[in-house]
Amino acid sequence: MSVDCVLAVVIEHDQGKTKPVSLEVLSAARKLADQISGKVVAFCFCHAADFEVDLFIQHGADEVRVLTHPDLQHYVHENYAFALLRQLEKSEFDYLLLPATNNGKELSAVLSARLGVGVATDCISLSVSGGEVEAVRPVSAGKAHSTVRFKGKKPHILSLRPNVFRDPPLSRQGDIIQEEIELPEFSQRVRELVKQVGSQLDVTEARIVVSGGLGMQGPENFKLLEDLAEVLGGAVGASRPVVDNGWRDYSNQVGQTGRTVSPDLYFACGISGAVQHLAGMSSSRCIVAINSDPNAAIFSVADYGLVGDVLKIVPILTREFKKILAS
Ligand SMILES: Cc1cc2nc3c(=O)[nH]c(=O)nc-3n(C[C@H](O)[C@H](O)[C@H](O)COP(=O)(O)OP(=O)(O)OC[C@H]3O[C@@H](n4cnc5c(N)ncnc54)[C@H](O)[C@@H]3O)c2cc1C
Repeated sequence: MSVDCVLAVVIEHDQGKTKPVSLEVLSAARKLADQISGKVVAFCFCHAADFEVDLFIQHGADEVRVLTHPDLQHYVHENYAFALLRQLEKSEFDYLLLPATNNGKELSAVLSARLGVGVATDCISLSVSGGEVEAVRPVSAGKAHSTVRFKGKKPHILSLRPNVFRDPPLSRQGDIIQEEIELPEFSQRVRELVKQVGSQLDVTEARIVVSGGLGMQGPENFKLLEDLAEVLGGAVGASRPVVDNGWRDYSNQVGQTGRTVSPDLYFACGISGAVQHLAGMSSSRCIVAINSDPNAAIFSVADYGLVGDVLKIVPILTREFKKILAS
């Protein structure tokens, strides 16, 4: 088969597990590749070659390159960028696709600057027109969509919004290449500086997000949301004033000036529903709002609304979900 275009995908992992969003990016790359006689190459930078590479092939990779080094156990942009740039020097790629997670966005910005190439971030739809990839990305806090095409130097970089490009695995064949790679001396220094951040789920990648606003009354009550998120396997989010008050870390903030999330299920607990908050979560597949004010704006976007005291309702939900999931 002749190949007109090569698409590279960077696999993200955490605690030795592939992040589901990487499989979504592979599936999206596969769909593009099928329209432009393309080949999909998955790059897995890791410290040990024990990843489920078959899964990468089932989700669309024609070739998987597992590149190992002890300092690639955790994501550090200096190490990932160094290793990836070496690979891009060895072979030519037309497109480079990454997840629009915190790490993926950082890495795409670093690579775009180093290579002097364009980047389209947080893409929500991809298509092919005239043999070229077109990407749609939200702008103006999600109020409008812009369609982006690339010009100039390659590879063109795209980061894809998590939870948007899901496809089931297919029965496929592919090649696997394993290689131990070198990293410069700084990688060890960086390793010493890296703090182990634990296995907290990134709010942008979570399929269930339990967010709290000022209606939670204080930082101590976020434990209720953590409990619900834990039972459901989700992540905790927050409104901006909650973050401004120092109740939660900025990485939890959902909205125009925080993270944009598209989970299957979004709980808005004690959140009024200001436009700036909606900008970050209104594309969630199902929204459950809990608010004591029946006229709160959040109810206008909610699929399910519970009017009442969030501090009383959330523990009931946690208890009931626990029972249902246990059975
Ligand atoms: C430029 C700009 C950017 C912004 N970016 C963001 C952003 O990224 N993200 C964001 O969230 N905001 C952002 N904001 C702020 C935004 O305008 C709102 O002020 C904010 O979203 C309100 O947060 P909240 O819903 O937690 O608080 P509030 O608006 O004070 O709402 C609290 C809600 O809790 C309810 N409540 C109170 N007690 C209870 C109880 N016991 N049980 C149940 N419900 C209860 C109340 O009825 C109320 O609806 C931005 C603002 C500006 C100007």
